Amino acid sequence: MRIFDPHIHMTSRTTDDYQAMYASGVRAVVEPAFWLGQPRTSPASFFDYFDSLLGWEPFRAAQYGIAHHCTIALNPKEANDPRCTPVLAALPRYLVKDNVVAVGEIGYDSMTPAEDTALAAQLQLAADHELPALVHTPHRDKLAGLRRTIDVVRESALPLERVLIDHLNETTVKEAKDSGCWLGFSVYPDTKMDEERMIAILRDVGPEKVLVNSAADWGKSDPLKTRKVADAMLAAGYDEDDVDLVLWRNPVAFYGLSGRLVLDVAGTEATHEGNSILRGGA
Ligand SMILES: [Zn+2]
Repeated sequence: MRIFDPHIHMTSRTTDDYQAMYASGVRAVVEPAFWLGQPRTSPASFFDYFDSLLGWEPFRAAQYGIAHHCTIALNPKEANDPRCTPVLAALPRYLVKDNVVAVGEIGYDSMTPAEDTALAAQLQLAADHELPALVHTPHRDKLAGLRRTIDVVRESALPLERVLIDHLNETTVKEAKDSGCWLGFSVYPDTKMDEERMIAILRDVGPEKVLVNSAADWGKSDPLKTRKVADAMLAAGYDEDDVDLVLWRNPVAFYGLSGRLVLDVAGTEATHEGNSILRGGA
């Protein structure tokens, strides 16, 4: 079984996670730029983070046989902090990098005017750079958040067919599907979406354009949730081709819209800026 986790924050995960993911079948991941929990106080802090998503983290992933790409953006939460918004002006120099396969995560957190501005500006950047966009929907007030998100995308230069709307659930999936966007589901331990609910949604809307991710980060989350959904699909009577569509071909098709997806991890360099990650030894 081959698995592509289209939304996972490996910066906050350990090498044990990489090892367990590989053993579970994960061969590719996309790491969206996001909020780090500790608020940033300057654009420079974003730039070091973006550089690490472009260089260090793909290097680390490759040690475990996993292809790593990223999405770059000013995240919705920090779009509200005037100390951070100058990042928007610097995004074009990151969006041209080979390893960037979308603009994201963008979208709404609290649905403020500052978030409106950042979302519209970044949808335009995606269109300008011929990249798709990963759009996060708020965890509170989900349906209103989804409707406003779809309205803003419709007013933008980016077609909904090039947008992945994430963190969907039973209340938002129908309208999201009708809009023509790609459908993202983050499967968490205990709260929000779980494997059984995911199966029920698949029965309801079918597997086309559906992507499942773990959204694992520094909070309570599980980087093996993609595999657990695959196993739940098989147990529910889906065949291996359906599993491959949802857990591999759909994410490959969506991020492939960038024209930059490279799933071969072969030619990895031995070190990253002098760091081999090796402990002890030579
Ligand atoms: Zn995320």
